[in-house]
Amino acid sequence: MIFIGTINVSRTRERGEFQCPSCKSLQSYRLRVKRPWLTLYLIPVVPIGSIELTIECDACRCNWDPSILKSGSAEDGSVDDAQARHEIFRAMILFVLLDGYMEADEVEPLGILASRTFGRTIDREELGRLCSLAEQTEIPVSNYLESVFRRWNPEQKSFAIQTLFMAGSLRPEMGKERTGLLLWMRQHAGLSELDFEELIQDCLGWEDGTTT
Ligand SMILES: [Zn+2]
Repeated sequence: MIFIGTINVSRTRERGEFQCPSCKSLQSYRLRVKRPWLTLYLIPVVPIGSIELTIECDACRCNWDPSILKSGSAEDGSVDDAQARHEIFRAMILFVLLDGYMEADEVEPLGILASRTFGRTIDREELGRLCSLAEQTEIPVSNYLESVFRRWNPEQKSFAIQTLFMAGSLRPEMGKERTGLLLWMRQHAGLSELDFEELIQDCLGWEDGTTT
């Protein structure tokens, strides 16, 4: 019998200091490069995915997206639309994977949401690949949002709230943690309760299969 598996290989590319949102103080970090490898008898033999970068705090060991390094000085709309859409998609996937799994019947509606986010058709295979890249970073969704959210412009923030809401509503229950994250985004987007309700009403009317 041949034992084939995969392993996430990570190594430190550089070190520095950053304001860790979790420690709420200046801490040293490692910039970690992560890449999945195919293993044969537990030995990594060939890389099978692309590289993902993660910032790891030396004190609390929390993982962050590298954009956290610029987040202190970032302003609304400081990323281009393509980058923001990529980040919104990733936030959506991490939001769905919050409890560690994805239901088979969530794949198709998530593909539709992904297609809407990217403005082009994302098939099942590409969705799977993008999901495993998101998982590979091992960044919790709350930390990911903390890293990227404030750099988005108001439209991108609203779109992110709608996309994550729609993804979360695929489950029978939104759950406490997901609801908390939606409220965090509402607050950080500076939306009133009424604005927020309107956003949700608006996305409930999104038609299947269409892109923005
Ligand atoms: Zn920390």
